[in-house]
Amino acid sequence: MTALTDGFHLVVDALKANDVDTMYGIVGIPITDLARVAQASGIRFIGFRHEAAAGNAAAAAGFLTRRPGISLTTSGPGFLNGLPALANATANCFPTIQISGSSNRALVDLQRGDYQDLDQLNAARPFVKAAYRITRVEDIGVGVARAIRTAVSGRPGGVYLDIPGVVLGQAMDAAAAAASVWRVVDPAPQQLPAPDAVDRALGVLARAQRPLIVLGKGAAYAQADNAVREFVETAGIPFLPMSMAKGLLPDSHPQSAAAARSLAITRADAVLLVGARLNWLLGHGDSPQWSSDTKFIQVDIAPSEFDSNQPIAAPLVGDIGSVLAALTDGLSSHPITVSAEWTHELAERRARNDEKMRQRLAENPHPMRFYNALGAIRRVLQENPDVYVVNEGANALDLARNVIDMELPRHRLDSGTWGVMGIGMGYAIAAAVETGKPVVAIEGDSAFGFSGMEIETICRYRLPVTVVILNNGGVYRGDEAPTGDDPAPTVLNARARHELLAEAFGGKGYHVTTPSELRKALSEAIASNGPSIIDCELDPAAGVESGHLASLNPTSAATPKAAVSADA
Ligand code: ADP
Repeated sequence: MTALTDGFHLVVDALKANDVDTMYGIVGIPITDLARVAQASGIRFIGFRHEAAAGNAAAAAGFLTRRPGISLTTSGPGFLNGLPALANATANCFPTIQISGSSNRALVDLQRGDYQDLDQLNAARPFVKAAYRITRVEDIGVGVARAIRTAVSGRPGGVYLDIPGVVLGQAMDAAAAAASVWRVVDPAPQQLPAPDAVDRALGVLARAQRPLIVLGKGAAYAQADNAVREFVETAGIPFLPMSMAKGLLPDSHPQSAAAARSLAITRADAVLLVGARLNWLLGHGDSPQWSSDTKFIQVDIAPSEFDSNQPIAAPLVGDIGSVLAALTDGLSSHPITVSAEWTHELAERRARNDEKMRQRLAENPHPMRFYNALGAIRRVLQENPDVYVVNEGANALDLARNVIDMELPRHRLDSGTWGVMGIGMGYAIAAAVETGKPVVAIEGDSAFGFSGMEIETICRYRLPVTVVILNNGGVYRGDEAPTGDDPAPTVLNARARHELLAEAFGGKGYHVTTPSELRKALSEAIASNGPSIIDCELDPAAGVESGHLASLNPTSAATPKAAVSADA
């Protein structure tokens, strides 16, 4: 009698052949047995409470490991719940694969009303790098290989892999099945830059008076830390990290211009973008934020990124490791001299801003405001530099990004390219699962709500995650007066005791009202290596509407908002 296998086992075999060791998801029809078979074969399955959080965890795993993070969803609504996370992964260039079971195609395509009927493949397409469907059990090997190759090669992104339930349940001859699965060789091959492109770029830098390097999360993702450091230090050019590139070189590095960001941007006359897009996060490279005669040099794996906003005087297509190594090699024939005037100008501004920050952090108002809470967190994290930091919110994001320095690469995960809320718990879970290291999630109280139920997941798996909720009782702030019987649209509950959520599921809860209580609680929580929530009670009047993005917020001419005081 010939041995048989089935689609469930074949998917797992194909994933294992490609070193997948973890899946994030929620079970249900038709993929419950897929999770069981995966777990039984040694793949870790982390079960969530909402598919978006599972998808966000997979995306963060992709960013941290440079291998595709895998999420698993059920058909119809489960698939749809996961899709925004896959779209967000694509926007952030994180390699992620959402594998979803789907309903009977014959019924779905004739719209006959199958269980959870949805044309998932076409629904996914506009939001992802690629969407594929496997329609025969013998195509599972090629489908998985294709999804992996697409997710990680070139510009990484989200891939949707549709597997109808019937395919999962199909039987196949075991020997033929084994032969249909393969391991993808060199999934993200090196891409070397052309020598004349390297010369052109170094020529632009050599002619500049005030050069600047901007490091983006693509540079952090590339895991080319030594090549980046060597070029930055040999060239001696000041650098500015985008938020998720903080720590690629330590924030304490003498060449960091982070504390002189606006001066560096307005004054630089040549800017080398390394894995950073000239999108809204960099003001599209427009003046007056940037000098109108700035020359841009850009390193990116995706050539279509060049000229997306500004003329790129020297495009460098290739992977960051190869390009920066080539740039370092070329320095001997294109020496760069960074003027002492430029470094001095930046150093002066940095010292002035550092002093302002020191004074802000030293204040001790009661009730606490963002800076005082963040000052306490900063102290504890300085003592624990290997902690992974997850950060989302409006003020909680803007201010933590500036206050919390990072010393190690890829240790900060945040709202990213979309400035999205809801990534917090998914990212925190993935950081803990993938690295085994302690994680501190610094959350606005509103932001936490988007994925808050995952605290149960964190407790169930006993993950070393501490969630600090900067609770000012509202979206932006919690003191907007009601105009009728209902709370104002921005108002949540300033007296909410979020720490009880952790206690409900067996974690530890803390409620703190002063910086010293916060320091003590956070040190203890990190040392416990287990799950906890610290509800950090802030002044409901602390915070500014839309954080640092107030300029993007159209104001109603008919009903102007009450003036808000700046906490920044
Ligand atoms: P940030 O938001 O930090 O500015 P972005 O997400 O805008 O960063 O930019 C990341 C860029 O890095 C993307 O354009 C992406 O194509 C690029 N990228 C990702 N991985 C690599 C790599 N290995 N080599 C070169 N470029 C890369």
